[in-house]
Amino acid sequence: MTSSTHARDDAGAGAVLPDVDGRGRALAASVAELEILSRFDREDVDALAEQALAAAEELGLTDLVLRARLVQADLLRRRGNVAEAGRQAQETQRWAAEHGATHLRARTHFVLASVFQELGDLSLALEHAVRSVELLDDEALPETRIDHLARLADCLGLSGDVAARERYDHVLGLAEALGDIERQLLVLNNRAYCETVAGAFEEALFWSTRLQELTDQHDAELAVGRLDTVGRSLMELGRLDEAEAAMLPGERPEALDASLDGDAGADFLLTLAEVRRRRGHLTGAQQTLDECVRRCDTYGLTAIRVRARREQAELHAAAGDFRAAYAEHKLYCDELMDLQSAERDARARALQAMYETDEARRQTRRYRELSLRDPLTGLYNRRYVDDQLPRLLGRGAGAAGTVTVALLDLDHFKRINDTCSHEVGDRVLRTVAELLGEAGGTGDDGGFVARMGGEEFLLVLVGLDPAAATARLEDLRRTMAAHPWSDLTAGLPVTVSIGAACAPGLTDSEPAEVLARADAHLYLAKRQGRDRVVGDASPS
Ligand code: GH3
Ligand code: MG
Ligand code: MG
Repeated sequence: MTSSTHARDDAGAGAVLPDVDGRGRALAASVAELEILSRFDREDVDALAEQALAAAEELGLTDLVLRARLVQADLLRRRGNVAEAGRQAQETQRWAAEHGATHLRARTHFVLASVFQELGDLSLALEHAVRSVELLDDEALPETRIDHLARLADCLGLSGDVAARERYDHVLGLAEALGDIERQLLVLNNRAYCETVAGAFEEALFWSTRLQELTDQHDAELAVGRLDTVGRSLMELGRLDEAEAAMLPGERPEALDASLDGDAGADFLLTLAEVRRRRGHLTGAQQTLDECVRRCDTYGLTAIRVRARREQAELHAAAGDFRAAYAEHKLYCDELMDLQSAERDARARALQAMYETDEARRQTRRYRELSLRDPLTGLYNRRYVDDQLPRLLGRGAGAAGTVTVALLDLDHFKRINDTCSHEVGDRVLRTVAELLGEAGGTGDDGGFVARMGGEEFLLVLVGLDPAAATARLEDLRRTMAAHPWSDLTAGLPVTVSIGAACAPGLTDSEPAEVLARADAHLYLAKRQGRDRVVGDASPS
């Protein structure tokens, strides 16, 4: 464990809190608790998340607000809105990365790992799972660490990686050391399931048995999903009597109805029907399959309904009715293909929905940026000036020093348009813009260059005293005049008149007033013969 205050700041239980704020600290502890609870299907999680969210908003603790919202997003995912959950998790992840909220980042990766798992992209899921473990720090609660490590093991296991076994051993050890029965059951179940996916039924049975023993020891109900894993393993190993015996407790309606979406119950019945058919109990098998189909229809479980057709075909065949078996098998094949393409479409749509808002945000930024630019020269436009100048001239904003506002107007520009062409005039304007851009510097200090309209430009210099600003503007005037224009303008000179006005730092100045002064000086520069700079200190 680290004891430095910095490490404490990113911690699961005590993220970004002022030490003095006891309420914030207590709230952080309950949000950490909430994250732990949210691993399981518990009805109170919604209400707790809502409470934590309201409290965090009241205290203005954004990190905790987002952690509570992420718990809600994960609930959304469980209830089937995977795309929206993924979108929210990604958005939160961006905030967390920008604000160095490490624990929140780890949590977003944790949620995104399941999002991509459900969208069928196991390699992305694995990447997120790895990050979710890496980003947890020493202060994270042990349950949270178990959850993240278990998800990593699941992602490895589902991708058929043998490294999953070692991972499961490790995380099971952690759950045992903590005496957390719920998490032990979860890990054992997932491990057994991954073994069945890999076709390692001996292994699956070993872990299913441990699952069964642990359940018995703690008088816990073995959920139908878990009984399904036990039954399937025994069945695949040819131990049919044991399979049926093990599954019997799950057949009671209260066990079948325990899962919210009906999925687990229907899956369980499908396996049980298969066990019964293989045992030669065709009538029992048909009754079980009928119940499975009824549940599929009630809950709209398309995928399980399709698999039930295959079992129905097997049942017909076992009864010697090959014509019916063939007809049903044909239905199975057709529906399976429809299902697979529907699933592909749904995944594509969900991914699209997750990223589309990112794209929309980029577009908005691009449009906003465009709306602040002058299309001919690429310089900022008048709208940008109206936006930025008040900010630069506001009280305190001038801490960097004096702000000098200079208006530049090309001399006798009309002549270039008239003598050469409007097109040449445009090229002159673009060249002037480039030279101005070079003179204006990088804008790191808040200064900038803009085109106000026509052949009039604005240059804002920050941090130069009036004399230095005037010298800079004189340089610029000379650079303009000295530029080799004649190739472009058939010998016509291009010069600028500049009117400048300074606003001293640390005092509030009205943009309109400063601009009017610069404009008056520009008028003077024109009247005094053009190609010159007139500022506050210039003799009139
Ligand atoms: P002064 O020295 O008094 O400023 O004389 P001027 O000819 O520069 O000023 P005036 O305001 O009489 O003319 C400005 C000209 O700028 C008129 C207009 O046709 C031209 N102009 C404005 N916008 C553009 C543009 O986008 N492209 C081109 N080629 N010309 C433009
Ligand atoms: Mg003009
Ligand atoms: Mg002009």
